[in-house]
Amino acid sequence: MLDASNEREAFDRDHFFHPSTHMGTHARGESPTRVITGAEGVRITDAAGRTHVDAFAGLYCVNVGYGRSEIADAISKQAHELAYYHAYVGHGTDASIQLSKMIVDRAPDHMSRVYFGLSGSDANETNIKLIWFYNNALGRPEKKKIISRWRGYHGSGVMTGSLTGLKLFHDAFDLPRAPILHTLSPYYFRREDRSMSEEEFSQHCADELEKLILEEGPETVAAFIGEPVLGTGGIVPPPAGYWPKIQAVLDKYDVMLVADEVVTGFGRLGSMFGSDHYGMKPDLITIAKGVTSAYAPLSGSIVSKRMWDGLVQGADDLGAFGHGWTYSAHPICAAAGVANLQLIDDLKLINNIREVGPYFLNGLKNALGDKAQVGEVRGEGLLAAVEFVEDKDDHRFFDPSQKIGAKIAAALFERGVIGRAMPEGDILGFAPPFCLTKEDADLIVGKTAEAVEAVL
Ligand code: PLP
Repeated sequence: MLDASNEREAFDRDHFFHPSTHMGTHARGESPTRVITGAEGVRITDAAGRTHVDAFAGLYCVNVGYGRSEIADAISKQAHELAYYHAYVGHGTDASIQLSKMIVDRAPDHMSRVYFGLSGSDANETNIKLIWFYNNALGRPEKKKIISRWRGYHGSGVMTGSLTGLKLFHDAFDLPRAPILHTLSPYYFRREDRSMSEEEFSQHCADELEKLILEEGPETVAAFIGEPVLGTGGIVPPPAGYWPKIQAVLDKYDVMLVADEVVTGFGRLGSMFGSDHYGMKPDLITIAKGVTSAYAPLSGSIVSKRMWDGLVQGADDLGAFGHGWTYSAHPICAAAGVANLQLIDDLKLINNIREVGPYFLNGLKNALGDKAQVGEVRGEGLLAAVEFVEDKDDHRFFDPSQKIGAKIAAALFERGVIGRAMPEGDILGFAPPFCLTKEDADLIVGKTAEAVEAVL
């Protein structure tokens, strides 16, 4: 146990390689170590005794909020009864079987089965292999390319890093480019032709997608992957008509849709799945984060009935799906998932999102919308973002070196609220736990307005 805070900081600096952190700055002690020691509801406490409202639910994952004893008890019970057994060659546990059923019951009607992993990144790696196996099974081995979108986020693995359409995750790694392609991001606020309506811009995105499919040859394009609402790329809900127009292009060229619902799955938009929310018809749905509310790591690929049938046929010709992780369907994580999904139902948390989500978004709009340097306040369900610009009328963006988004997030942190400076652009993101109250929504809005005032 570490007790002296300077000892803790020294151990951290010298031993802990943190993800998404500037190594030199941290190791030299120029950026602080922050040790989180406890949490309850929407609030987290650090080792210095400070409490913050976590308006980003960790990394938009602690959806039911912190300190839920129902989930902690389920984890403990499972660890005592059966800490581990694998899921290979037909093995299962009560927890993993029960969770599979609960997930498929909640998924759109045409979905069939769930393949488990540990993270959103590994689930998307699995999806790529499922798509390739499927097309080999159908006797069309040339149909392998996958189209993603600029500003999409699909993980940090080698292939999933390529799927991700953000500079930060590509630069300096020489990730493989083929067979991954990128098309327009559905970012209406940043559209090039400012005269376009939302519907026209959606049509433009669908036309660009069709053009790319035709250029590459539809017989070579296997799938299109997208988040129902762009998340890490800036928290951008799709413009009006976007998903039906994209779906029509995909159907026309027999291109599968992968809905990456790592953020939107299990309620965040006020619907159980974003696919239902926007009428998408995916063949694969990626889940992670919200399936356990991050009480234990678990992810999954939900497979459609159509795809399942093709895979079964493929196994007869190609053999078993030779892909698995030691911890696929880990019983402790599955037990956390069962308790978490039960809690979302019992506490009617999705109803709370439908009520508090719009209240929070309107609060942000009322407090900030008129400000000259607030370009847009947008959101859906309990996802919201404020995008800052140098000049709203000219639609002029700040020079990235000014780091305006990061400064505002830091000013907000000083005022006791955690929002997230999104990695590209000056965007402050919010994704609070589903149990957010109107009082805490007011507090987040009030402190955000103060922080913006202090920086701009
Ligand atoms: N897909 C989406 C939409 C995500 O937002 C994330 C993570 O934020 C991932 C995939 C990757 O998930 P993980 O960090 O669990 O690998």
